[in-house]
Amino acid sequence: MSKANVKKSALITGITGQDGAYLAEFLLNKGYDVYGFLARRGSDTLWRLRYLNILEDVKLIDGDLLDMSSIIRALEISKADEVYNLAAQSFVGTSWQQPVLTTQVTGFSVVNVLEAIRLVNVKIKFYQASTSEMFGKTNETIQSEDTVFHPRSPYGVAKMFGHYITINYRESFGIFGCAGILFNHESPLRGIEFVTRKVTDAAARIKYGIQKKLYLGNIDAQRDWGYAKDYVEAMWLMLQQDAPDDYVVATGKTSTVREMCETAFSYAGLNYKDYVEIDPKLYRPAEVERLLGNPAKAKEKLGWQHKTGMKELIELMVEADLKRIKNGL
Ligand code: NDP
Ligand code: GDP
Repeated sequence: MSKANVKKSALITGITGQDGAYLAEFLLNKGYDVYGFLARRGSDTLWRLRYLNILEDVKLIDGDLLDMSSIIRALEISKADEVYNLAAQSFVGTSWQQPVLTTQVTGFSVVNVLEAIRLVNVKIKFYQASTSEMFGKTNETIQSEDTVFHPRSPYGVAKMFGHYITINYRESFGIFGCAGILFNHESPLRGIEFVTRKVTDAAARIKYGIQKKLYLGNIDAQRDWGYAKDYVEAMWLMLQQDAPDDYVVATGKTSTVREMCETAFSYAGLNYKDYVEIDPKLYRPAEVERLLGNPAKAKEKLGWQHKTGMKELIELMVEADLKRIKNGL
């Protein structure tokens, strides 16, 4: 086999999460050997890989982001050309209840992966899952790579460490490290604790008469919501460029939680006003009121743009939840 034909190998931390599963599917379709870093848990975490029917195609390696020796082992076994660091305590709400764990897993662990790369093979390309939550209480109406960060949660603060340590290892050791500043992205594989999935699941349950009300917090918050399946391609594209860089990945459109509810319920033939109630306990100690990303750089340099807008995304999520509930799952 000529060098150009040698199969590339990728290691995905967080392969059991929403993005990890879609990225694994995407890389398998590109002909990669896909390895996933698997944390030990008391319950089954492989449902997303089963849903996409790729569990048999990926190679799972036990380990935990908090344990650098297990990352080194995974790099040695996988002989990875590319590492996608998607593992995190990723829910903003939980980050106030478990701030220390969030800081350690979502923040400090990033240096474990970068150090492991530096020790094993400095040529490994590295993707860090940065987030629009880093913009937080921003003054800019539309946020780009140049917008000043003002994180509002322990999650956002932890992600800032991951973001800057990635840039620092790039500048210090020449590691090909890219940080993707991704705005909210959702799918039928989104965790039920996030607001889109909580809403689409509730709309489907209410439709089938197994739930009566949906309790939400701040429904005036605005988010730039895209489809996870579109967004994993941008991660890959970043690592295929001649030089490492950081990119905003977004749709360029924002909607309120209220508008998203309206879309979900009306797709199920319901009026959200009849079912949604506000529970003040669901308000956050500090809120990110409005996020709207400018994806111009990703479009110009990566040739990437989103394919799926909020309405289509929410409708496909409701459709998937209706189907799942109908099948008794
Ligand atoms: P998920 O919460 O769905 O997945 C998180 C993954 O991290 C899971 O596979 C989880 O494993 C794993 N994980 C958690 N702790 C550890 C640990 N200590 N060691 C090893 N693995 C661990 O997140 P998403 O797929 O939605 O997001 C992927 C990444 O992108 C995250 O870093 C997130 O913060 C970031 N991001 C996400 C956005 C979004 O809108 N989805 C927006 C911007 C950034 P297990 O299943 O065993 O718990
Ligand atoms: P986040 O942007 O990563 O925090 O994603 P979420 O989906 O968790 O939250 C998006 C927005 O929805 C935030 O501004 C929340 O305050 C708001 N929101 C309102 N009600 C709820 C709720 O019941 N659950 C969640 N998760 N968010 C809610």
